[in-house]
Amino acid sequence: MTGTDTEQGQIADIRTAVAALCERYPEEYWRRLDAERGYPTEFVAEMTEAGFLTALIPEEYGGSGLGLIEACAILEEISRCGAHAGACHAQMYVMGAVLRHGSPTQKSDYLPKIADGSLRLQSFAVTEPTTGTDTTSLKTTATRDGDGYRINGQKVWISRVEHSDLMVLLARTTPLDRVKKKTEGLSAFIVDLREARGQGLEVRPIDAMINHHACELFFDDLHVPVENLLGREGDGWRVILDGMNAERILIGAECIGDARYFIDKATAYASERVVFGRLIGANQGVSFPIATAYAQTEAAALMVEKAARLYDAHKRCGAEANMAKMLAAEASWAAGDMAMQTHGGYAFAREYHLERKFRETRLYRIAPVSTNLILSFLAEKVLGLPRSF
Ligand SMILES: Cc1cc2nc3c(=O)[nH]c(=O)nc-3n(C[C@H](O)[C@H](O)[C@H](O)COP(=O)(O)OP(=O)(O)OC[C@H]3O[C@@H](n4cnc5c(N)ncnc54)[C@H](O)[C@@H]3O)c2cc1C
Repeated sequence: MTGTDTEQGQIADIRTAVAALCERYPEEYWRRLDAERGYPTEFVAEMTEAGFLTALIPEEYGGSGLGLIEACAILEEISRCGAHAGACHAQMYVMGAVLRHGSPTQKSDYLPKIADGSLRLQSFAVTEPTTGTDTTSLKTTATRDGDGYRINGQKVWISRVEHSDLMVLLARTTPLDRVKKKTEGLSAFIVDLREARGQGLEVRPIDAMINHHACELFFDDLHVPVENLLGREGDGWRVILDGMNAERILIGAECIGDARYFIDKATAYASERVVFGRLIGANQGVSFPIATAYAQTEAAALMVEKAARLYDAHKRCGAEANMAKMLAAEASWAAGDMAMQTHGGYAFAREYHLERKFRETRLYRIAPVSTNLILSFLAEKVLGLPRSF
């Protein structure tokens, strides 16, 4: 870890405080929620009250006014403790779109309430069933109609919609055949879910491998007032792109937390399980994979830190944010696989919790952006290789 002694001390204090809070929500709590498809309402409320989920909201709006480097420490620690940061991480970063692109009224109306937890902005709706990763081809439309817009279309895999009051939505306001670049003609909106459900928005939960509260959304002439446009009409791509680097770095930090969780668990188990009359960790066939996972995780953590520092310094960090997310997701997945192998059959027993974390961390090789798409970005945008699409 680089940074001044004061900063390191502050980050260490944050980690200790987050770990102390997480101790009140042991792995059994997360196992029960996973089985019941429940939502950690009390945990999210406590995290908000303690100022952790409001880390990135400036103090003038009632937030903690911290940087991404501190926010990363918070999410990493939650994941390392065995909790599921995916239940609440978006409350930390989706508001960034409002902070950077919101009108003065939107900022003063929403940010203080997000900071005190009375308003939940936990959802961010981009992905569509027929276009997937090809985001700029999305088909949901927003058509101007009097004092607002009419939204029509469909979204899929939108997380936490049932546990959020507001949602940032990306829709097309100018048809694809009338724009020069595919990234033009998209617009971002703040949708008030409390008013929208049943009034043109249908929400259907998806039965999924992990407890991420992801839903399908169906829009049928949903009315969104014009004052809920976020940024300028047609500028939606820029509105969401800005937040993507922060999201990728923060997800990278979560993955580092997961990887460290797996390494801690595997190290402990390999140091106590006796087979053939000796500790299994005394076999290099067991200890080397743990050491390999450790080395991979530490390398990925450096990239997460580099990306977060660039972000906090307002420097370009697109390549680093993408690499951080990719390397951390690959490290956590490999560490999870290693921990499963180290635990043998017991890895499959739910009371050991590993299988839940193993499922949860698997998501990050796919969402919010898949490994292939990151490699494609690096190949074409950073290295200048020929375009493939
Ligand atoms: C639990 C969960 C929660 C989610 N939460 C949200 C959310 O809150 N908001 C939101 O907007 N989305 C969310 N998503 C969606 C997620 O971001 C997408 O699933 C992801 O971006 C991949 O899109 P896709 O599923 O349509 O895959 P596809 O685009 O269909 O791609 C399928 C596979 O093909 C690969 N592929 C596609 N095209 C290429 C190419 N040209 N070159 C190489 N490989 C390619 C991809 O990398 C991927 O591995 C969530 C998904 C899940 C599973």
